[in-house]
Order: sequence, then structure tokens, then C-alpha cells
Amino acid sequence: MAKRQFKAESKRLLDLMVNSIYTHHEIFLREIISNASDACDKLCYRALTDQDVGLGRKDFKIEIKADKTGRILTVSDNGIGMDKEDLESNLGVIASSGTFQFRQEVGDDTKNADVIGQFGVGFYSAFMVADHISVVTKKYGSDTAYLWQSSGADGYTVTECERESFGTDVIMHLRPDTDDEKFSEFLEGWRLQELVRKYSDYIRFPIRMEVSKTRKKEDSPEDHPEYETYTEVETLNSMVPLWQRQKSKVKKEEYDKFYRDKFNDYAEPQRVIAVSAEGAVTYRALLFVPSQQPFNYYSKDFEAGLQLYSNGVLIMEKCSDLLPEHFRFVRGVVDSADLSLNISRELLQHDRQLKVIAANLDKKIRADLQKMMKDEPEEYAKFWKNFGRQLKFGVVSDYGAKKDELQDLLLFYSSTEKKPVSLADYVSRMAEGQESIYYAAGETVEAIDRLPQLEALKDAGTEILFFTEDVDEFAAQALMTYQEKKFLSALSGEAAPKPESEEAPEETEEPDHKAVFDFVKEALGEQIKEVKSSKILKSHPVCLTAGPGLSFEMEKYFAAVQPEQKLKADRILELNTSHPVFAALEKAVTDDPEKAKKYAALLFNQALLIAGLPLEDPSGYTDLVCELLV
Ligand code: ADP
Ligand code: MG
Repeated sequence: MAKRQFKAESKRLLDLMVNSIYTHHEIFLREIISNASDACDKLCYRALTDQDVGLGRKDFKIEIKADKTGRILTVSDNGIGMDKEDLESNLGVIASSGTFQFRQEVGDDTKNADVIGQFGVGFYSAFMVADHISVVTKKYGSDTAYLWQSSGADGYTVTECERESFGTDVIMHLRPDTDDEKFSEFLEGWRLQELVRKYSDYIRFPIRMEVSKTRKKEDSPEDHPEYETYTEVETLNSMVPLWQRQKSKVKKEEYDKFYRDKFNDYAEPQRVIAVSAEGAVTYRALLFVPSQQPFNYYSKDFEAGLQLYSNGVLIMEKCSDLLPEHFRFVRGVVDSADLSLNISRELLQHDRQLKVIAANLDKKIRADLQKMMKDEPEEYAKFWKNFGRQLKFGVVSDYGAKKDELQDLLLFYSSTEKKPVSLADYVSRMAEGQESIYYAAGETVEAIDRLPQLEALKDAGTEILFFTEDVDEFAAQALMTYQEKKFLSALSGEAAPKPESEEAPEETEEPDHKAVFDFVKEALGEQIKEVKSSKILKSHPVCLTAGPGLSFEMEKYFAAVQPEQKLKADRILELNTSHPVFAALEKAVTDDPEKAKKYAALLFNQALLIAGLPLEDPSGYTDLVCELLV
């Protein structure tokens, strides 16, 4: 009998796969089991329309047999089976199943071989572990069974044979062990069990295997027990995935256990979000918001992504495309029949479907968090502690592309409420005529609270948001406005509360201090941009405000992350002209200019200290203080 040749492309693909340095050889079992499951599905479906079949879901099963001495692994099913034409067209040509085309798109580079593991290559993946494969199969309704045999790239044969009933056996002769790879591990019960649990746990037909166990011999005494081994056929998979069940029918404990087992967290999840979507793409998802921040969350080691299943078959362990960056703390699974292993090979379509799912999940998570914020503010505060920073980064990244979606999830510490509040709450409390959302950035809430620059606003009862994280000001800058209210730094000179009466602009009342300001500017030179009369100080003599653009907190941030850039905020020295210190300065300017220069330096250094900025010359400053003491 003549050997039939695989199509040329198939040969190349086989070589590539078998010889690639690809390490996930284990996925072959997933592929063979999926095929068996598909075959059962097909016959099951046929039974729905054809009374004569007389089979129901529960009649189907998949069996795994390991023959250690013969080094043979067999996967059998009682599904639809194949006739001669099916064998030719299904197992003779890889190119037709789209695999090859897919390979061409990603390139022949073996470094890309990981893609194989992610998307599945079907039947041929078995050649990664087997050097000879036989398929014994009989199609439902046919009298003849066939034996398909191949040792890889050089071709295959098809002959008639015997098989009692319909269904298929895939018989894999495992490759000899090498120093690098022990193929015989795929004959070990524990290993097969592990692989079924990992990849095929939610296949909806029982996957059965004879497993060996030990038990106490019945007649052995309790104090000297003797043991014996015996074998028992067991179902290895749990079959019904939690996400396929209606949320109202699943107990909280079941979700908790599932989450803990699957994602190795010892704490229960804070939120469980179950999604069932039909439409452009049909899928189910089960998402979890962890109740604790993973210890490596903000490090490079943290790998984000959701588990992607197709009809209960794991395709990808961490599919990061399914989650937007700002929700990368979410864990969970997505299962879509639309991403069948077939379709998933066609990269473009696959991509489009993933995008649709990702966009939907983004919305669902957002809605759920919004709900938690509204209904369970205390829970939300906990969530915020864990992952709020991530959401603020989300506002900042991509030039604020996501800011509209995320702005209502943000919280900032409020000076009047003494706790984190939402922007909507802040705006709802704004006084008549208040045009801006005031914020002040600093190291800690306590440190900000002490800043003299905030005195006037605080006295006027104005609510100020305290920004204690370096990302906060960047987030405010990205947002620019919230409900048309501008963000304004309370530490900037513009942030003075409005005068009580509009008719009395202060400028006219204020005596002209220009000579003093000019003198101080001259004395301090390039260290400052401007000297002016402060509208924000009340009991303190002096402070620094930043010009438009960079703030002092941003300057500190950049000094830490890119010191070589030497980015500096403009320093504007604000003097409280109604303070006795100013009167002393004014007097010195006319009476004793040398002394006045020292006063100017002193005040500037004090302003730097209050702003938390480093002094250029700390010992010079202390000398000055001492000089003025004696
Ligand atoms: P895919 O499953 O993506 O179609 P495979 O390479 O895994 O690609 O399988 C090729 C084809 O071989 C399947 O589509 C199916 O028609 C046929 N096939 C493989 N295994 C079986 C089986 N156990 N029973 C029936 N048909 C099978
Ligand atoms: Mg397949």
C-alpha cells in the first residue's frame, strides 16, 4: 500500500513543531482531548435532531490509557468518529485547517513558537511527544473502521481495520527519553491527572482513567496496618465550570474557594463579578477583585491577565489583552465558545473578538466599582487603599485617554471631611461662586495641613483636596477639569479666596511696595522669578509659590526619578505685607541695605523650608540666623 504524502507545507510545519525548542510539549494532551470532546459534541448534537441515535449527554466519555511497558498513551472517545474521506481531509492536510497560514503570519521564527502553545495546533502537536501515531476510528452509522498511521513528516497510510463501535482511539507511541526530556512522564498517572486538571478540567464529558491507589488491607490489625495498592477508574475533570452557573445559584463560599484555589490567594476576594454576554461575541467571565494588594503588585514581576478558555479548554494562562492596564489587578477567567480552537488560529479575527470582550469587561468592572463606591463606601475605601494608585495612573497614562471613564472612581483626601472623597462629592459641596477645585500637594496629610499657604482658604472654610502621592498632581493635570471646574493648586498664588465684596479690589487699597520687592528680587537674583505681595498668607510672613506649569511636588518627583534633568519649578516669593516682619524689612531697605539683603536671604530660605525644598546652602543659612541673633 502506497504511502500518502502530507502537503508540502504540512511537512515543514511538522518539522518546525517537533524540532522547535518549544518547551510546552505538554499541551498535546489538551489538543487530543479537545478533539475527542468535539467529536462527542458532534454526535451529541446529531442525537438532538436524529431520534435513531438514542444517546444523551451522559452517554459520552473520554478515556485515557497509559501502557508503561509499551510506552503507549491512548486517548479514546465514543464520539462521531471518522470515515476514510474524513481521515484524508482532516488528518492529511494541515494547511487546510488554517494552521499553516497562521504560522506564516507570525513568521517561521522558532522564538515565536510559544504562539503554538497559546493557540493550539491540534492533532499534530502529538508528534512533539510521539514518533508514531495510530488512529483507529469508526464513524457513527458506518460499518467500516479505519486505521490511520503516521511516523511524522514522511507521510501516512490508511487501511481498513476492526473497531467494535463508533468512536476514535488516538494511539501515541512516545518518543524515547533523552537527557533533556523524559517523554515517559506522559505515562505517569499523577502527571496525566495534573495535565487534565490544568488544561481540560472543564471539558463537559468525563475524562476517565484508571488510577492506582493504596488502602489498608481489610484484615490487617489497626496497630500494624498493612497496605495494598489497587486500581480504580476515576473521572479526572470537574466538568462543570463555576462560571457556567447562574450567579444567584452559586454560594459565596464556592466562589471564595474557587478563587483561592485557582489564584493562590489565601484571602477571599473582595468582589466577585460574574458576566454573561451574548451578542457580537458570546462569552462568560468570572472576575475577582482581590481583597489585598499582591506583594509584588507594583513591581515588574506582577503578571496581569485573565485565564482564557474556549469551551472549557484553557487556551491561555494570562491573557493580558483582556484587561485594560488600569484594571490589571483583576483576576479571573473568560470562556467563549466563539473562540474555538479553530477560530483562534486566525489571528485577526481572534484579535477582534478579544478586543470586544476586553471593552465589555472594562465597562463591567467599572460599573461594579462604581456601585461599590455608592452602596458600600467603606468597602470602596479598602479597595482604594489597595488599587487606587493604579486608577490614578490610568488617568494619567496615554495622555489622559481614559480619564473620562475613570474620573468618577477617584478619591482624594478632603481637608474638611477628613477622609478620601470623590470629585462629585467635592463639587456638590462647593460654595456659591467657587470656581476651582482646590488641592495641595505634599508628603503627608499632616504635613500639608501645616502649610501656612493654606491658612486663608482654610479660614474661609474652603474644602481642599490633599494630594499625598506623586501621581496625584499628574492626575489632576491630566483631568484638567471635573464638571467644568478647573483644578487649582491651593499653593499657587492664584488660590486666594475671593474678597468679600466685589467693588473693593484690593490693589487700590494696597500701598505701593514696589521698591521693597525690587530690592529683594535684586538681592536674590536668579534664585527666584518674582517677588510679590501675598494674597494667601495670613499669620505667616513668607512663602513660595510655583509659577504655572511645574509644581514643587512635581519638581521633587522629577528630582527623584530623573535627577540629571534638573527640572525646576518657578519660584515666586510671596511676602505678607501686613506682617511685622515685612515692616522690619521695609525699614531695613531704607535704613540699612546690607542688613536688608540678609533679611531677604533669610526669608527666602525659610520659604524653601516650608515648601519642603532643599536649601542651596544650609550652613550659610544657619550662619545668617546666628548673625542676626547677636
Ligand atoms: P481542529 O480540532 O482545530 O479542527 P485538529 O488538528 O485538532 O484541528 O483536528 C483536525 C480534525 O480532525 C478535526 O477538525 C476533526 O474533524 C478531526 N478529528 C481529530 N480528532 C478526532 C476525533 N477524536 N474524533 C473525530 N474527529 C477527529
Ligand atoms: Mg483540535
